[in-house]
Amino acid sequence: MKAKMIIFIAALITLIPFFSLAQNNFTRPDTIIGSLTRGIQGLRIDGTPGLLTVYGEEAFTILTDDKGRSLIAAATYGKGRIVAMTHGDWIAEKHIATSDNNPFIGNIFTWAASDKKKIKVFSREVNFKYKFHHIPHLQFDKADQFPANLSQYDLILIDFTANGRPEAFDGSTREALKKYVADGGGIICFALGWVYMSYGEGKTGKSLAKDFIGNIFLNDFGLVFNEEFTGNQFQLSQSVGNKNHPLLLVEKVSEIIEKRKKISVHDLNNLLTTIQSYKGRFPFQDKILQRFEKYYDSFAGRRWISVNHPLTSADAPFVLTLTMLNMLYQSAPESRVSKLKDADVFPGDIGSMADEAEKSIQFDLSGIRWQSTGLYAPAGRIVSFTIDKSIRNAVRIRIGAHSDILIPFDDKYRKEFKRSPDISQTKILDAAQTFITSPYGGLIYLEKIGKPENRVIDVRINGAVQAPHFQLGKTRMKDWQENIRYYDTPWGELEGERLIITFSSDILRRIDNPEKLMRYWDKALSFYAELQQEPPINYKERFVHDVHPKIGWLHAGYPIVINRQVSEYTAGLVPLDKGKDNDIYHAASWGHLHELGHNCQRPEWTFDGTTEVTVNLFTLYVTEKMDGTTPVENQWHKDGWPKLKKYIANGSPFEEWKKDPQLALETYILLQKDFGWDAFKKTFAAYQKLTPAEKPKNDQEKRDLWVIMFSNTVQRNLGPYYRKIGMPVSMNALNQVRKYPVWMPAGL
Ligand SMILES: [Zn+2]
Repeated sequence: MKAKMIIFIAALITLIPFFSLAQNNFTRPDTIIGSLTRGIQGLRIDGTPGLLTVYGEEAFTILTDDKGRSLIAAATYGKGRIVAMTHGDWIAEKHIATSDNNPFIGNIFTWAASDKKKIKVFSREVNFKYKFHHIPHLQFDKADQFPANLSQYDLILIDFTANGRPEAFDGSTREALKKYVADGGGIICFALGWVYMSYGEGKTGKSLAKDFIGNIFLNDFGLVFNEEFTGNQFQLSQSVGNKNHPLLLVEKVSEIIEKRKKISVHDLNNLLTTIQSYKGRFPFQDKILQRFEKYYDSFAGRRWISVNHPLTSADAPFVLTLTMLNMLYQSAPESRVSKLKDADVFPGDIGSMADEAEKSIQFDLSGIRWQSTGLYAPAGRIVSFTIDKSIRNAVRIRIGAHSDILIPFDDKYRKEFKRSPDISQTKILDAAQTFITSPYGGLIYLEKIGKPENRVIDVRINGAVQAPHFQLGKTRMKDWQENIRYYDTPWGELEGERLIITFSSDILRRIDNPEKLMRYWDKALSFYAELQQEPPINYKERFVHDVHPKIGWLHAGYPIVINRQVSEYTAGLVPLDKGKDNDIYHAASWGHLHELGHNCQRPEWTFDGTTEVTVNLFTLYVTEKMDGTTPVENQWHKDGWPKLKKYIANGSPFEEWKKDPQLALETYILLQKDFGWDAFKKTFAAYQKLTPAEKPKNDQEKRDLWVIMFSNTVQRNLGPYYRKIGMPVSMNALNQVRKYPVWMPAGL
């Protein structure tokens, strides 16, 4: 993590328009920054500086990295001034000796010391004498303890990295230092948040925000060291200023909301993504939260967000209000979080019959991904989680299965939002007791953070309600049918051995035989690893039904998100058009099996144009295993075969092949027809034995390797076949398989 950076400062003037947005209560830092950077040509630093979050009304950034993130920031406080730096190297003697850093750091010393000409400096940690060209009188004292009378000094230098433990800055010391600044004193301090987290006490589970003394102290000045750092080998230009200062964002967004301004989709998306980037780290200020709660209420008479009344980019003032409020709630004390009314439509409200449950969950730390608790957090209600404090920072809570974030708007899948754009929330259990309030509510999950551990812990949950939760092999059918499925929450789950499905409760109440359904899905899931020839996954896949999957009707991932309109098919409650009868054994639509297939695709054998093709090898395979329909009996082949003949007659334009998944799949089905699934299994298995050096590096190598690997498996020369279908294969690859007899499917 050693990097040499040369930082150029130019065009300071570019930040001024941003600050003109600010209201009167902001410090107007442009003239201050102008004075600090006067005459500076560049800056030098070795090492990897961290970053600061700057949020106080009197706080501002002096220097940023190329992404506009804060490297050096300052604040005024009472009559005094404070500067925070993200690395000690900014003021290292070797750099002060250079013509670049000397005037800049000298200016910072002068400013922090309230522009005095003679400056008397004290430090406990920093151990050398500075010489600045334009500060002729600089006296420097060092001692192990702060003097009783701090005010004899103009400036105090603090290295929080060297002495960051709370006992070194006890409460009375902190108060004395704050009073010293308020009375006109100056402080320059530095620390590296990311070092604290990666190498310091953060490693043992301490919190940078709550336990690091540098932040405990700086918080009062509206500055904190965050855990990010900034990359290597970069140059900065015109990057002075802080255009993303959260208070500026608040003012900018407020103006749009108050004046009900129309803005472009592009500008709206920029604001929405900036607001989202502050999630969980926006410094809480109650008056800002109150302001946005008022805005939310000011949209009186609107319809709640729903499938029939979706949000569009034309609703910018409301979309911004909702996004801002949701973000602010995530930094607010739990007692300040209220239910957002749109939650009543989606994800829905708990019913009057919902019973508050106090439940102890046995949470297995050896598992990965989400573990269901069978509990639901009602919107706007405080839920508490109690653990043994020795395991804090090892578990994350999630409220809400609907983890798709719809922001930003796009032309294809998210022209409108059919539900609130961001309704799922997470929080780390970072204390013996952790509280969470979700403005939307949702099912509660636990998730292990970091490496799995071999033990089971107790997590006590209070304030939640029981949700329908069927566990295959554990829940008695009679209990399900008579009781559990009627638990009065809007969502619940069926849990098999390989898959968990999140359904809305209206669907769950219609499922009489969850055992049969989950055995069916478990069986389908079992075939993926078989074709892929990889060890079975060590977690359960998930299907979550949502009114608005962020992409398409269904999409792959964890969870696999499925349009709620497909729920009845997933549940086996209605026959599929291709189904032979009403039996749930035909319930799995092509779409479900397809998305599970995406989770099994590997990039080594999925080259450009085959993302929607190699996935369907799995769909075809599992379909055959489940209902006996072989690939050549499948409709895909029936339509694909004449298409392929026509394509070849037209001279096999490969660009067309890449754009047509049915055409491309047909060229795989022909391999399956002659060589069987075993050839695919052997080929996929052989891919797994490749060393990193043998793996394909680009698209040409991927195509070449596919021809070589499959030819090797079947001991046939597939070169002429792939040339016939127009696939670019290198001469080298063709030569490698020439030793085998040529194969060509019948009829081509
Ligand atoms: Zn797909």
